[in-house]
Amino acid sequence: MEQLTSVLPVHTIRKDFPILDTCVYFDNAATSQKPVEVINSISNFYKNTNANVHRSIHRLGEKATAKYEDARERVRNFINARSVQEIIFTSGTTDSINLVASAFAEKFINEGDSILVTELEHHSNLVPWQLIASRKKATLCFVPLRDDLSYDTEALEKLPWHTIKIAAVSHISNVLGIENNIKSIISHAHGHDVPVLIDAAQSAGHIPIDVQAMDCDFLAFSGHKMCGPLGTGVLYGRERLLEQLPPYRGGGDMIHSVWKDKSSYAHLPCKFEAGTPNIVGAIGLGKAMNYLSRIGITAISDRIYTLSDYFYKATRDIDSIQFLETSEKTHGIFSFVHKIIHPHDLAQYLDSREIAIRAGHHCAQPLHRMLKIPASARVSLYFYNTESEIDCFRTALEEAERFFYV
Ligand code: PLP
Repeated sequence: MEQLTSVLPVHTIRKDFPILDTCVYFDNAATSQKPVEVINSISNFYKNTNANVHRSIHRLGEKATAKYEDARERVRNFINARSVQEIIFTSGTTDSINLVASAFAEKFINEGDSILVTELEHHSNLVPWQLIASRKKATLCFVPLRDDLSYDTEALEKLPWHTIKIAAVSHISNVLGIENNIKSIISHAHGHDVPVLIDAAQSAGHIPIDVQAMDCDFLAFSGHKMCGPLGTGVLYGRERLLEQLPPYRGGGDMIHSVWKDKSSYAHLPCKFEAGTPNIVGAIGLGKAMNYLSRIGITAISDRIYTLSDYFYKATRDIDSIQFLETSEKTHGIFSFVHKIIHPHDLAQYLDSREIAIRAGHHCAQPLHRMLKIPASARVSLYFYNTESEIDCFRTALEEAERFFYV
């Protein structure tokens, strides 16, 4: 295939990710690989700075706190939040969404209310709301979809907005790779004073994110999907709303004063960070954001689109596979079914060729049920992947067909 020229020095960038020499890694939607400077920041912290934060007055404690809070400032800057009070470190998107679901419901959701979601969601942005709905005797309400699975924006105004208390939708689908029309949800919801949570697990670190320009009320994302360490994530929340929510978990660091029978709580963001946080994870995430910003988030996004275009052109003539999303403009995620080979067999065969893809329902069973398929295979690309890796994938797919057809 003709090689497309890329503006990113991909071959230099790949040297930052030693693990990429071991296989073709096409499972980036599950977790991204980590550059050496993020890996080193973790061992450096343990070698030189390890101490708890916000409590010890010794030098190590002060240093650890300064680094942790510096990471928070980097996150603020990365998503253009107004203030560091709006940045809460969590263990990932799932944790961030559970925090909002639990605290928001405690304060604002009552019997008869509803929560607006979509059938495209990852389980992390569906199950927490199902739990809340059953606890509060509320219901889930679903965004109407067109045949191509985009939001039916004309039907949005007909939703029962008087019962909807919050909308929670994903930015980029982890199965289809399409960027959802969150702008239309946000503007309709705000027209009815309904706050909106955006699940940005597949968009943060992939496309530019500016929470002020998006005008979202909450934004949840995972650090480990954007070159940061595992077990890291962020919840952005509009300060005015976060102030109104009760604490999600109780423990150290989230209190102001504690008596035998009651407590008063710390200011934001500590109110939502009970116990010893993942300090080294947050610091590693700050490094990852530095790394991505140095390369340039727009260049990263363009690179993913270039690769997606290459992947689309390299595979669209294969009659034996059917893509779940047929649009040319997907953001690095391609899920498909093969006419004969089960996704798991295909993933296992490709693994024998040192190509890592995902097979299953990708934590999106309602979407798979809607499409009447139990599972699919998924290729998910990131900026460090190459056109020649896509060529290898195509060759291995053809080999798999020969292998399984006999
Ligand atoms: N939301 C989406 C769209 C995802 O793709 C994922 C993970 O794949 C999640 C939420 C959950 O992320 P985590 O497991 O990091 O909490």
